[in-house]
Amino acid sequence: MNSEDIKAIQELLAVPQQIVIIPHKNPDGDAIGSTLGLWHYLTNSGLSATIIAPNDYPKFLKWMPGNEHILNFERHNSQAKEKLAEASLIFTLDFNHLGRTGQMAPLLESSEAKFVMIDHHQAPSDYAVVTYSDVSKSSTCEMVYEFIAYLGGKDHISAEIANCLYTGIMTDTGSFKFSSTTSRTHRIVADLIDKGAQNTEIHHQIYDTNSPSRLHLLGCALKNMVILEEYSTAYITLSQEELDRYGYNKGDTEGFVNYGLTLDGIIFAVIFIENKEEGIIKISFRSTGNFSVNEFARTHFEGGGHTNAAGGKSDDTLSETVQRFRSHLKNYEEQLLIQSS
Ligand code: 5GP
Ligand code: MN
Repeated sequence: MNSEDIKAIQELLAVPQQIVIIPHKNPDGDAIGSTLGLWHYLTNSGLSATIIAPNDYPKFLKWMPGNEHILNFERHNSQAKEKLAEASLIFTLDFNHLGRTGQMAPLLESSEAKFVMIDHHQAPSDYAVVTYSDVSKSSTCEMVYEFIAYLGGKDHISAEIANCLYTGIMTDTGSFKFSSTTSRTHRIVADLIDKGAQNTEIHHQIYDTNSPSRLHLLGCALKNMVILEEYSTAYITLSQEELDRYGYNKGDTEGFVNYGLTLDGIIFAVIFIENKEEGIIKISFRSTGNFSVNEFARTHFEGGGHTNAAGGKSDDTLSETVQRFRSHLKNYEEQLLIQSS
């Protein structure tokens, strides 16, 4: 943030505001960790703030301190709408355009409130009075730490804030392994541990709380994996029937897509997940190196994200979607082969 932005934020927070904080739809660890981290910071500073999540999120994120205060726009619809109508200041975290909030988008677009964006995705929309956008940052949680530091509030980072921010940095960096992890990331994480982040416990809560059915579903996903060596690509499909067979719960497929990248020589991994209720195939894309899945998802599957992690969707059937995906690969043959060699 530049000094003008910092001043603008300080002025906004110096007067009474009805603040609402919003993560993207299907919030992940970074979205929930960053909204809760900021929420603790603002409420500890005596401000009035409410988090509204567009929809539900996995159980393994619900242990974070303050979670019980999050409103779910689908479940607490009238209360959430009331808060939105009253809002004078809205923080949008971990997404780059209002469409990423799903059915909340029309209400946000017509809101009179001032917006502040904190986000690390490419191509931020221009709706905020302060846009703190930095694609070089590992996570929005890392940015919320910086945001608090800019406001001179580092000494006010409580153990609750530290636990929330640590969680999102950990999940968005694949436990500090992705190339977005910098020495600054590690310094921030070290400071968060000093401030009370329970790193081992957080790891346990996120990664070691599997249900048996989730591991069986993973077995099914790995069995379904198709490896296209000629394109350095691996993809997984999961049909609605398979999800039902293994008693799918929200979040159960989190991280499955990454298994493709653990294969030697594979630099492009994809998972296609059928969602009969929404009538779509939800797709996750992952890559290593310069191959931009953000560009791929944007061009072919109405999505986006980052260079190495993106998402998208398709309205076709599962098999049609896979066929279409495979037909697009030909146009990327050179990039995929150069990258992997
Ligand atoms: P995931 O595959 O874990 O759902 O998402 C990976 C990344 O892509 C995240 O940064 C997420 O915000 C972004 N992403 C996922 N789905 C979509 C989508 O439908 N549209 C856009 N623009 N980004 C997405
Ligand atoms: Mn993120």
